[in-house]
Formats: sequence, structure tokens, C-alpha cells
Amino acid sequence: MSGKKNKPCPKTSKDSDLPWEEDTSMMHPQEKMVKLDTELEPWECCDAWETEAQYFNWIRGAMRKAWCRHPVKITYMHLHRFKAPLGKVTFKYPNGTPIWCTHCETCGKLFKESKTEVDHKCRAGGCKSWDEFNVWIKSLLHINLTSLAIICKPCHYIKSYAEQHDLTFEEAKIAKKAIAFMKQKTPQQFAWFAKHGWDVKDKRISNIPKRKAAYKQFLKDLK
Ligand SMILES: [Zn+2]
Repeated sequence: MSGKKNKPCPKTSKDSDLPWEEDTSMMHPQEKMVKLDTELEPWECCDAWETEAQYFNWIRGAMRKAWCRHPVKITYMHLHRFKAPLGKVTFKYPNGTPIWCTHCETCGKLFKESKTEVDHKCRAGGCKSWDEFNVWIKSLLHINLTSLAIICKPCHYIKSYAEQHDLTFEEAKIAKKAIAFMKQKTPQQFAWFAKHGWDVKDKRISNIPKRKAAYKQFLKDLK
């Protein structure tokens, strides 16, 4: 009976034969357990993540999948959508096939349901550690019908930009328009200024930052 006690553990297929790796096959099971039980972090145990940041990126992605299928989110859309003739014009529906549509609660315009999203009214924030996880997951998933709003994709894009850069929605809208304006070639930018009464030799629009500032001011003055 006592002979069994000192018998080496049978070698498993998982044990490495590589000479530079420690051979654990001769270890007592308890000793082996201690070795596996050290304080290794998940990203230190496998090849899935190289850093803690990558690991939390994966955690956030996994939780966002739950948000995508959140029953309250789906219920909210079902309560706000209705059939409108925004589909294809056919012989049967000369004014457009009735399809599911909804209003964007930011700009008020009517969109096909597929062109909108249900979004949190308050930003869920970030989660880069377990210290931040509880607050973050609660704001992401512990929601009710008053926590949400339907938003079209263009408005969502501006809202996200505003949150990232700590701007108001209107400031972000102007900033995004200015970025698009400055992506045009220089002659096109000057053509726009000329069309709006500027002398193209005006020093106030002589370089990129000045033209961007002048264009942003034009948009602000429209309000
Ligand atoms: Zn909108």
C-alpha cells in the first residue's frame, strides 16, 4: 500500500519534452498544484493577450455583446418603431414599401430602423481595471426605458466625438464639419471662401489653421 505513495505521477501528453522547460512529470501532485496556483494574471497564462490593456479590451467586448442583445434595449426599439413607406417603390407600393422606421431623438429626423441605434443617454464610461468594472457594467447593463434614446448613425458619430473630446454636441458637430471641410483640396477651400464673400488674398485665411478657424466661426455664426 505504501509503495503507491512515492510512485511518480504518470506523464501526460501536456507535459513538455523540451529540454529548456521544467519537467513537472516527476512532481508530487500537491507540489504541481502549488506551481499552477501562483499569482499569474490571465494575460500571463496564455497567448490570447499580451498586456492587461488587451485583456480588458476583450472583457469590454464580451460585455458589449450582452448589451447588443439586451432585452430592455430591444423592447425600447419595439416601442418606438412603426411602419412607414421608406422601402422600395414597387407596383404594389408606388409610394414606397412600408418598413420599420423610427425617429432619431437627437435630430428628430425619420430613418429606417436599420440606420439607427439605441444608445445610453449617459455615457457608460471606461473600464481598464477591475476597480472600474462594477460602475461600468452597471451603467452599461443595469438600465430601464428612461436610460435609453434612439439615435441615428450621423448623430451617434457626433455624440461619440463630443464625449471623446469633452465638447458639447453642437461644438462637436462644427468640429466634424470643419474636419471634412479641411479635407478638401486648397483651391476648393478658397473657392468656398470666395463664394461666401471673402477676398482669397485675405490674410485671415492665408494658412490651414486660419482657414479652419474662419470656417468654424462661419458655422457658429449661422446658429
Ligand atoms: Zn439624428
